[in-house]
Amino acid sequence: MDYMQASTSFPDIDMEFDKNVPRICGVCGDKATGFHFNAMTCEGCKGFFRRSMKRKAVFTCPFNGDCRITKDNRRHCQSCRLKRCVDIGMMKEFILTDAEVQRKREMITKRKEEEAQRESQRPKVSEEQQKMIDTLLEAHRKTYDETYSDFSQFRPPVREKPTKRITRSSSVQTQNYSSDSDTFQSSPDVSESSFFSSALFGGLNGGSSPEASADLTMLPHLADLVSYSIQKVIGFAKMIPGFRDLTAEDQIALLKSSVIEVIMLRSNQSFTMDDMSWTCGSEDFKYKVDDVTQAGHSMDLLEPLVKFQVGLKKLNLHDEEHVLLMAICILSPDRPGVQDKALVETIQERLASTLQAYILCKHPPPGSRLLYPKMIQKLADLRSLNEEHSRQYRFLSFQPEHSMLLTPLVLEVFGNEIS
Ligand SMILES: [Zn+2]
Ligand SMILES: [Zn+2]
Repeated sequence: MDYMQASTSFPDIDMEFDKNVPRICGVCGDKATGFHFNAMTCEGCKGFFRRSMKRKAVFTCPFNGDCRITKDNRRHCQSCRLKRCVDIGMMKEFILTDAEVQRKREMITKRKEEEAQRESQRPKVSEEQQKMIDTLLEAHRKTYDETYSDFSQFRPPVREKPTKRITRSSSVQTQNYSSDSDTFQSSPDVSESSFFSSALFGGLNGGSSPEASADLTMLPHLADLVSYSIQKVIGFAKMIPGFRDLTAEDQIALLKSSVIEVIMLRSNQSFTMDDMSWTCGSEDFKYKVDDVTQAGHSMDLLEPLVKFQVGLKKLNLHDEEHVLLMAICILSPDRPGVQDKALVETIQERLASTLQAYILCKHPPPGSRLLYPKMIQKLADLRSLNEEHSRQYRFLSFQPEHSMLLTPLVLEVFGNEIS
């Protein structure tokens, strides 16, 4: 910023200057640079006028006092040049005093500093954080099939009215069970349903009579679904930046205790408040609360689970927030059996600050209002759901006729040692 610039006291006029009008100096005809001291002039005449005024110079024309000032001769007669300046409207009142120039400079510097300060404080999703988000979105895309096409590979869902219980269904289950297990080992995505939960403790309400057992017709299908979802969650976890830096033991500890929560979280994608169902493609794979209740499922889990799904749905999370929440859920340092809590915490904090930055920068109000604490509250809700699930799972797995309908993976993951 030079002194010349600072002495241009009417920047607004400059800005209003019509760019189509030729910029010609009103004094000498040279190329003008804008309005200076109230008239369109070149830099040379601007400086000449300011210096003359500051010096309070008095010039005398060596000729007739009516020299025609041009670009080339403007130095020859200061008197006529100055007269011309005044004639075209240049005013000394428009010249800033040294103090004014100083003040103006300081003001401009201060404004620039404030701008830089605001810029540096404006929350930003850093390049590294954006990379993290992209990685998680990709990980989710690879482990969650929105077409749910793999559901047809599970043991089929068997829905029966309680009044129509027939023994055939249980023989079908048993028969299919022998061929299950690894059929979906290598298949692509799907996921879903917290209903596996229902499946897992369907026995709770039913007691142990044969009729009650018929309530578990959905168990094989949902057990397969859960087993499949567990594999997908494991696949997702492996792609979370930092997860593979953990020891194998810690990776397993984190997954064993969080997988049910992550399945509940990801199932929200298929959950619809239209009819409070998890809709995974065709009618066959549309899981309603009724299905679960009729399967003898305990409302101790189902009721808070549906409430959780509705609450989560209402947050209208962006995909970015959804995947970050799942990753944060998995990387919880307070899970039982975790050895290197500090490392887990570091990774989780990185995820959490990325989520906060994302919400600040990318989630418009009013949806962003208190969104982060609301999401963290959802993680707390999941802990309760997890506990209830474990309780009911233990009950179920103590009954051999039910546990045999599960899959080896489900048995291993939800086995006693995690309780
Ligand atoms: Zn000029
Ligand atoms: Zn002259």
